[in-house]
Amino acid sequence: MSRRPLVAGNWKMFKTRAEAVAWCADLRAGLAEADGVDLAVCPPATALADVAAALAGSGVGVWGQNVHQAESGAFTGEISTGMLAEAGATGSLLGHSERRALFNEHDDLLAEKVVACLEAGLEPVLCIGEMEYARDAGSTETILDGQLRSGLARASAEQIARITVAYEPVWAIGTGRTATPEMAQEAHAFIRGVLRDLAGDGADGIRILYGGSVKPENAAELTAQPDVDGALVGGASLDAASLLAIAAAARP
Ligand code: PEP
Repeated sequence: MSRRPLVAGNWKMFKTRAEAVAWCADLRAGLAEADGVDLAVCPPATALADVAAALAGSGVGVWGQNVHQAESGAFTGEISTGMLAEAGATGSLLGHSERRALFNEHDDLLAEKVVACLEAGLEPVLCIGEMEYARDAGSTETILDGQLRSGLARASAEQIARITVAYEPVWAIGTGRTATPEMAQEAHAFIRGVLRDLAGDGADGIRILYGGSVKPENAAELTAQPDVDGALVGGASLDAASLLAIAAAARP
């Protein structure tokens, strides 16, 4: 099955509202470069509504970087799925490695967040990936298998077919070290096999993005792999031109 490539930018805790809107203008001016590729951006929550307004009608997706699993409640500092959707988001990253490492997010919690997003009509983008010691110990597949099966434990096969997965080896995030195209393809093919086990043929339509120091220079060889359906880009997405160059490299 041919899957349309998807390139998403994760700004993390960068950009003021004014900087975010300026980025959107730059992106819109160059959108023709990304023809044939779906784009999305994950701004900080404070800029989400501005970005959604600035990108309205462009077809570029706007996602949260994280969301709470409850509909509402006494959860100081958190944001609900309904709030994200109201601000203009159509999806959310879940379980980014920084959330897992710095904010103690674990697979059981993520399983709740996946279903909360699906029930609110938001696309969950489940981030998974092994730490360097796990790769060195030959445990990459065990880790990925566990993260997927636990993180998707509450979702039905039909719901799983509607998610996006981001494979982000932790040792490659923000380090300038990238998985080789062969390493990425091997991990992505393994992930698709687990998804097939969980979602049957629906797994063929699930986009699996690679993340970890993706740049315009290395994007083409990574996204040319048969099971690499695009990229989740951190640092390089802060510049609209460089996200567009990555999208251009991912064109089918
Ligand atoms: C990320 O934050 O998801 C990421 C992949 O970061 P970077 O591209 O900077 O490695």
